[in-house]
Amino acid sequence: MSGSIDLYKDVWVFAEQNNGKILSVTFELLGEGRKLADSLGVNLCAVLLGSGIQDKAQDLAARGAQKIYIVDKPELAVFNDESYTAVLVDLVNKHKPGILLCGATTVGRSMSARAAALLNTGLIADCVGLVIDPATKNLLQTRPTLAGSLMSTSVTPGHRPQMATVRRKVMKEALLDTGRNSEILLQEVAAEVLKSRTKRLKLEVEAETTVNIVDADIIVSGGRGMQNAEGFAILRDLAGVLGAGVGASRAAVDSSWIAYSHQVGQTGKTVCPKIYFACGISGQIQHLAGISASDIIIAINKDPDAPIFKIATYGVVGDLFKLIPILTQEFRKLLKK
Ligand SMILES: Cc1cc2nc3c(=O)[nH]c(=O)nc-3n(C[C@H](O)[C@H](O)[C@H](O)COP(=O)(O)OP(=O)(O)OC[C@H]3O[C@@H](n4cnc5c(N)ncnc54)[C@H](O)[C@@H]3O)c2cc1C
Repeated sequence: MSGSIDLYKDVWVFAEQNNGKILSVTFELLGEGRKLADSLGVNLCAVLLGSGIQDKAQDLAARGAQKIYIVDKPELAVFNDESYTAVLVDLVNKHKPGILLCGATTVGRSMSARAAALLNTGLIADCVGLVIDPATKNLLQTRPTLAGSLMSTSVTPGHRPQMATVRRKVMKEALLDTGRNSEILLQEVAAEVLKSRTKRLKLEVEAETTVNIVDADIIVSGGRGMQNAEGFAILRDLAGVLGAGVGASRAAVDSSWIAYSHQVGQTGKTVCPKIYFACGISGQIQHLAGISASDIIIAINKDPDAPIFKIATYGVVGDLFKLIPILTQEFRKLLKK
């Protein structure tokens, strides 16, 4: 932060793009950002970094961004922690937004933590609620804590910008209106700012046979109770019928039954599906940390005292190897109708 906090005004949304496609979380942030900007009587702005991405400004304008700051450089073609953070920090120091929101994605989490440290300001990660305090005009940032058993609300009263990463699919997308106009502000940055000590040598795309769990509306997850890698076959069948993603506990991942990209929990992914099936998962706090935003949790476990039943919406006590094939069969019949 440089200068008095009164100099920091607008609400900024980091417009995350992947291969030129703006991620839906950006539209969710613009939806929420609009409410914040209106409460404060300031502009809602988007920041778009990349290479050959200027035409994407239309998508942001259509979702209500009044000003769009763009840095379009070949060096920004793929996400790089150092250069993206340096460019973002440079823009913040030049234009002084009061609030800066990023998606709680891998990119958003990594970049915003670095940016907050460089800007000497606060960052509240994984927010699910944002509102302006009418008395102080500070941003009240709410997030689940203690594995979702409590909600905490934090403020950054003395530093700017007030930074937050926001969970996906919690806030509603800004409505699309292609008739909107916005100011496009193509930005120049010093060559120094674009430099990085790291570069991507190769991209290895993991073969994902089912839906990506971060975006999935339904997730079927398995734990140590699946017994081995072959045990996951029945979960994949159920997931296939439901159009669901396949998740896993760390115990299953550590046993090499399924790849780490499927791990849910404190050291895996935080998910927020409409329905989460926890099969043969005991419900340790580190797993619960990743699933507490699920709308409905259905637990299948042979141990009636398993902790997962304390947070499950519906619980079934029994042998998953008998129950899951029956469920798959019944869902297949129902969904065919
Ligand atoms: C720093 C740290 C970070 C961690 N991060 C994560 C994380 O990100 N994600 C995560 O998941 N864990 C994480 N863990 C590990 C966590 O503490 C637990 O060890 C792990 O979640 C247990 O996995 P589980 O529930 O699959 O296995 P278990 O606790 O062994 O539970 C297996 C369950 O399967 C049930 N079961 C067995 N057979 C059947 C059957 N036939 N039918 C029905 N039920 C059956 C059992 O009753 C039992 O409840 C972390 C731990 C630490 C210390």
